[in-house]
Amino acid sequence: MHIASVGVSKFCFLFSLAFCGLLLLLIPALQPLPRQVDLPKPRPQARPAQVGTSEGLGKPIKTEISRNSYPKTGKGVRRIPERGIGGPQEYRSHDKLELKDIFIAVKTTRKYHKSRLELLIQTWVSQAKEQTFIFTDGDDKELQMRTGANIINTNCSAAHTRQALCCKMSVEYDKFIESQRKWFCHVDDDNYVILPSLLRLLSSYHHSQDVYLGRPSLDHPIEAAERVKSDGSVSVKFWFATGGAGFCISRGLALKMSPWASLGNFISTAEKIRLPDDCTIGYIIEALLEVALTHTHLFHSHLENLQKLPIDTVLEQVTLSYGGFENRRNVVGVVGGFSLAEDPTRFKTVHCLLYPDTEWCPKLKPRHRN
Ligand code: UDP
Ligand code: MN
Repeated sequence: MHIASVGVSKFCFLFSLAFCGLLLLLIPALQPLPRQVDLPKPRPQARPAQVGTSEGLGKPIKTEISRNSYPKTGKGVRRIPERGIGGPQEYRSHDKLELKDIFIAVKTTRKYHKSRLELLIQTWVSQAKEQTFIFTDGDDKELQMRTGANIINTNCSAAHTRQALCCKMSVEYDKFIESQRKWFCHVDDDNYVILPSLLRLLSSYHHSQDVYLGRPSLDHPIEAAERVKSDGSVSVKFWFATGGAGFCISRGLALKMSPWASLGNFISTAEKIRLPDDCTIGYIIEALLEVALTHTHLFHSHLENLQKLPIDTVLEQVTLSYGGFENRRNVVGVVGGFSLAEDPTRFKTVHCLLYPDTEWCPKLKPRHRN
């Protein structure tokens, strides 16, 4: 009996030891799973409202178009669901977006270096020298030395053809991808970029989301024969942001465009659908990637009547433009230190309203006292 009870307590002792050991082994396994870092954030859902989606059936497809004569609607339409419209989404990034996070590409051509580009370098580009890249088609060492601007000779043809313009866009895209920056924004050499507004707008989104921001020049989607995913017997409808007003693309979305846009693929995509550079961007994003353009009225080209822009809202816009001459002048109606003769584009006036301390800006006269 005594021997038996010693055996039992020995057994109990060994059992408790084994149990404790087992518990110790199990402790790490019973801990809650570590929190996954960097969970993808919810995609900002565009809250679209009625954009004039004139998706009616209509005319046969035109294939060769220029920027100002886009084809109208057509048959065999594949509808892209949901349109984005209006202002920024609710998304707020944790890290504050800075100007250095944006890659601004300016498209130009050798013959406009003096007449257009110099004005940009003197005005808004001077405030964003590090992040602005000028894509042109001819060397201009003198301009580069004198202004310190980032001028990139794409070696694309200087002609105003679809191929030449797509060639420049293709280089812009590749340089952006290489740059590691968060946002790609493209503008023409007749755009003024209001940098604080651009920063404010992009801060409302996250660069890892699919964001394509710009202004359509049409009130309906464009239609093209689908020659990338099929043989061209069906057509596809999509919105695109007009290049003449500028547009922006998040890095997340730009990376997804790579199969159709990187390393010269942009040129072959544009060739297949036979559309200009800005339409091709819209095609890749809306039609191939099924990401909707977020329509914004903060971007402006000279295809619209710029006089109609309320003067007190001009500095809140993201891009401005100018066009026409003399009696057909199409410029924003800002008033300031420069007359129309001194500042026909109004870009200097806008610049001095934004950055009054610039040395060449007229100094404000002390208020007249009675
Ligand atoms: N452009 C170009 N090569 C040319 C002509 C124009 O790269 O041979 C560029 C020009 O610098 C501008 C854009 O294309 O950035 C649009 O040109 P423009 O404003 O003259 O025409 P739009 O299409 O706006 O009427
Ligand atoms: Mn233009």
